[in-house]
Amino acid sequence: NPASLVQVMFNLGEMVTATQSVSDETLTLLGEEMNYIVQIVSPEEEDRELLESFSIEFGEDEGGEENLVARPPVVTVMGHVDHGKTRLLDAIRKTNVIEGEAGGITQHIGAYQATTEVNGEDRRITFIDTPGHEAFTAMRARGAKSTDIAILVVAANDGVMPQTVEALNHAKAADVPIVVAVNKIDVEGADPTKVRGQLTEYGLVAEEYGGDTMFVDISAKQGLHIDSLLEAVVLTADAALDLRANPDQNAEGIAIEAHLDRGRGAVATVLVQRGTLRVGDTIVAGDAHGRVRALIDDKGNTLEEAGPSTPAMVLGLTNVPGAGDNFLVVEEDRTARQIAEKRAARERNAAFAKRIRRVNIEDLDKILKAGEIQSLNLIIKGDASGSVEALESALLQLDVGEDEVDIRVLHRGVGAVTESDVNLAMGSDAIIIGFNVRAEGRATQMAEREGVQVKYYSVIYQAIEEIEAALKGMLKPEY
Ligand code: GDP
Repeated sequence: NPASLVQVMFNLGEMVTATQSVSDETLTLLGEEMNYIVQIVSPEEEDRELLESFSIEFGEDEGGEENLVARPPVVTVMGHVDHGKTRLLDAIRKTNVIEGEAGGITQHIGAYQATTEVNGEDRRITFIDTPGHEAFTAMRARGAKSTDIAILVVAANDGVMPQTVEALNHAKAADVPIVVAVNKIDVEGADPTKVRGQLTEYGLVAEEYGGDTMFVDISAKQGLHIDSLLEAVVLTADAALDLRANPDQNAEGIAIEAHLDRGRGAVATVLVQRGTLRVGDTIVAGDAHGRVRALIDDKGNTLEEAGPSTPAMVLGLTNVPGAGDNFLVVEEDRTARQIAEKRAARERNAAFAKRIRRVNIEDLDKILKAGEIQSLNLIIKGDASGSVEALESALLQLDVGEDEVDIRVLHRGVGAVTESDVNLAMGSDAIIIGFNVRAEGRATQMAEREGVQVKYYSVIYQAIEEIEAALKGMLKPEY
């Protein structure tokens, strides 16, 4: 019971309360002391084990190579606010969306498919219809990979802006290839060449300059070169990715949007990643389950089935899953219900043990030693680009001895610490440094809730000293 655990901990020399979270290391020690073997698992591992207990292997294409069939790329549109992400998604939808039967009314279900002709072949592309990297990182933070390719929209009159950099860093961290859409070329003062130059500094070098990133000049407003952009997406996917899936198995994928509809009950848009989802299938999505009563596409048409990379709205779930939750089809209703119930119970437990401990400066040496992370990932936000750059370069030059620890700055920018920063930190085990800036209210709450450490400094050498000391701690000889 909790009281005796507290007692044992006290004897081990650590003062804890009954409701406090402790580090993995402490837990393991506690287990040893009490003759238990403590196994530390991530939520993703725990879920995998849960599914395995029902003989389900999530995330695997069944069978061999011969069962794999090409699937369309899934694309997210990112970029700075007002650079034209929404307009671009609308322009693509208007001109390239696959014709449905009897012209259904366009519905925003969270994703849609478009077609484009490449080398005489009709090719499909699936677009996630929520512009921006927030949804992308929120899903990634939960361990879901939703996107194959990112379109980075940069307005040619504005050039690279803070959220442009943020977006590209998010895509890079997720290892997602980028196609750059240089937008608003119809506007006076548009300078697409300058955008290419600016992005070179961030490692995105245009093909015409000998790099491997495709840049396409477009006007979302006038519908200019949208086809070239879609072609670039397909070509980038073909060159960089092997997008194939087995359509002949029980469907699996992720929920990308869900809400409670007054008339229809729980409604979720899912993205099928492998297998084929059919009306009548028994499905579990996060902690929701049910029989698929209807599948609806983005034109309001009902579908009989949805294959890999196809988004579809699902009716028939018991409740609303979260965005980023995985979904899968199972043979029996009972299995679906049991999985959903176990997940719901786990959610409740997790809510209980809210304070998750992630990477933090104080325990950096222990965390590195335990091999939980291989490098120190940082996100630096500051009040001015000069100070941010100065801090970054000083940190990158830190001499931490022979066993060099990799210090990686995943993202840097001017302005307050935002929810998006916290999401990135969660997805990449990073610490956030705020230099002469604070976190936005909601970002603070989120960081606290998720256990992401945000360190504030107002003097550069203090930041350097503290991080150096933390790293050196790791390098202390062990006796
Ligand atoms: P978002 O914040 O990135 O989603 O940007 P929006 O799509 O909302 O676009 C911001 C503003 O720029 C809107 O007023 C759009 O009409 C305008 N806009 C977007 N694309 C273009 C373009 O290619 N040319 C011009 N002139 N205006 C555009």
